[in-house]
Amino acid sequence: MPTYRAPVDEVMFLLRDVLHVERYNNLPGFAEATPDIVEAVLVEAAKFCEGVLAPLNRTGDKEGCRRHPDGSVTTPPGFKDAYGKLVAGGWVGASAPAEFGGQGLPTVLTQAVREFLYSSNMAFAMYSSLALGAVAAIYSHGSAEQKARYLPKLISGEWAGTMNLTEPQCGTDLGQLRCRAVPQPDGSYKITGTKIFISAGEHDLTDNIIHLVLARIDGAPPGTKGISLFIVPKFLLNPDGAAGERNAVSCGSIEEKMGIHGNATCVMNYDGATGWLTGEKHRGLYAMFTMMNSARLSVGVQGLALSEVAYQNAVAYAKERLAGRALSGAKFPQKAADPIIVHPDVRRMLMTMRAFNEAARALVLWTALKGDIARRSTDAKEREAADDHLGLMTPVIKGVLTDQGFANTVAAQQIFGGHGYIAEHGVEQFVRDARITMIFEGANGIQALDLVGRKLPKDGGRALQAFFAEVSGYIKEADAAMAPYVNPLEEALGELREATQWFVQNAPGNPDNAGAGATDYMQLFGLVALGYMWCRIVDAAKANTAAAGMDDKLVTARFFMERMLPATTTHLARIKAGAASTMALPAEAF
Ligand SMILES: Cc1cc2nc3c(=O)[nH]c(=O)nc-3n(C[C@H](O)[C@H](O)[C@H](O)COP(=O)(O)OP(=O)(O)OC[C@H]3O[C@@H](n4cnc5c(N)ncnc54)[C@H](O)[C@@H]3O)c2cc1C
Repeated sequence: MPTYRAPVDEVMFLLRDVLHVERYNNLPGFAEATPDIVEAVLVEAAKFCEGVLAPLNRTGDKEGCRRHPDGSVTTPPGFKDAYGKLVAGGWVGASAPAEFGGQGLPTVLTQAVREFLYSSNMAFAMYSSLALGAVAAIYSHGSAEQKARYLPKLISGEWAGTMNLTEPQCGTDLGQLRCRAVPQPDGSYKITGTKIFISAGEHDLTDNIIHLVLARIDGAPPGTKGISLFIVPKFLLNPDGAAGERNAVSCGSIEEKMGIHGNATCVMNYDGATGWLTGEKHRGLYAMFTMMNSARLSVGVQGLALSEVAYQNAVAYAKERLAGRALSGAKFPQKAADPIIVHPDVRRMLMTMRAFNEAARALVLWTALKGDIARRSTDAKEREAADDHLGLMTPVIKGVLTDQGFANTVAAQQIFGGHGYIAEHGVEQFVRDARITMIFEGANGIQALDLVGRKLPKDGGRALQAFFAEVSGYIKEADAAMAPYVNPLEEALGELREATQWFVQNAPGNPDNAGAGATDYMQLFGLVALGYMWCRIVDAAKANTAAAGMDDKLVTARFFMERMLPATTTHLARIKAGAASTMALPAEAF
């Protein structure tokens, strides 16, 4: 059975010593989140995740969800009870606005809790994540009446939410979307069509499910400009706001799939279901993007979370499993063999996971803090800068953290040898669960294109320039003792600038050059961002030498700088090779 310990001390170190969250006490909700309260919240969350959710992760995987002939879906044994505890603990809407029943806690805190939830049981945690996406979309785009009707129960967790974009003929290219919306005299719409792959589309955890559905109003223009967003509840609401009559939406089947078996992935049939437009007509994709951006960051956290739990189990195994002798001579001569943690190749894998996890967590929390500033600051300039950061980092966090997160689950599996391939130890589940994070919420290739094609040029490159200015400003100010960390970062930043410049010169005349280099650019960007995080962690560790584990951070930072960051050079070389050899063969040659 895999085990899990939520990294509470690590999060406290990042919040207190690296991000200095106390400096943001002027933001609403921050002053109340004193260090004691933050620690208490993290400790409670850790208890819940370790004690309730982690033990259900295997059951959820084995038992999966079941659809019954009447279209209802039962979640795995224990999920309903655990969901009741999640709601009773106030975990669902902990960061949601207080005016609708949330606790208004900083997202920088609750994003750390999300990591714990995903590490302990990703399939379970997804049910409440989708509700939060629906909250974000309705809060930003809904009418006052819609907010009053739906937000309190979504925020409390009494009701769940879903996002319905994908159809059989389109996932990435939503311009091909066919689901129809026909206006009704009372202002509602009749929604007809089939959506596939809908996470948490049907289940037994809540009294109602609020589906957010993309559909095309009759007569709307073709392509993405003719799509609107609708609220379609499973049960229509009575005048008093309680769930009433059943709506014409049902689960046609649930998918058999590779992982996250505890989360019901549904084909949803809309047979003239009643829905209400939310946001502007034909601007549904724009409204849905609010939900997707929140979900993309959340999926990035899933990558980190699975990497963390896989790492913890790999460490435990590497300390126990006896095989061979250390190259430098036996370390445990009294034992039949040394534990495999003595072998440099095993260390390589463990250190890669560790160096990624610590910096990725810092990047996630730094970005969550920017999200708080973007939503809560009273200073318009500060809000704009924070929002720029959020937009720029969203594809990086989604793409890089899930690519590397998956790779790390595979590395953990490798450390288990054959015991990682069989089900008994549970590591192969992490691999299977992690795989979807690279695909959903926009496949990672699409994240890379979003970064290169949209986020870089947006507002004349303002967000990118601000990031460059922050990192190079930091490098200039760093003292000489930081050279082993700052020098490699400076080199990597130079390569990122060079790659950016190469796109500016070579993409306009041949867009394939941008397309062929986009994934390398995203990875290069991610490495620079993680390298910057490592420098900030080292600063904090040097300032806290008395605290436990700080020397280990300096070593891990060095590993990152020496063994992971140099990959930037390969990424740059690939980008500068352009698209020619990638695109030269005609399709018939394949
Ligand atoms: C378990 C699971 C849960 C899901 N949950 C939800 C959900 O809750 N709601 C929802 O709406 N959807 C959901 N999805 C759907 C998911 O978001 C899509 O599968 C994903 O967006 C990719 O779409 P697609 O499968 O149609 O692939 P396609 O769009 O057919 O893409 C196939 C491949 O081609 C690449 N590609 C496509 N277009 C381009 C391009 N222009 N340039 C470069 N590369 C391109 C893609 O990156 C991908 O690698 C879920 C899917 C799964 C498997």
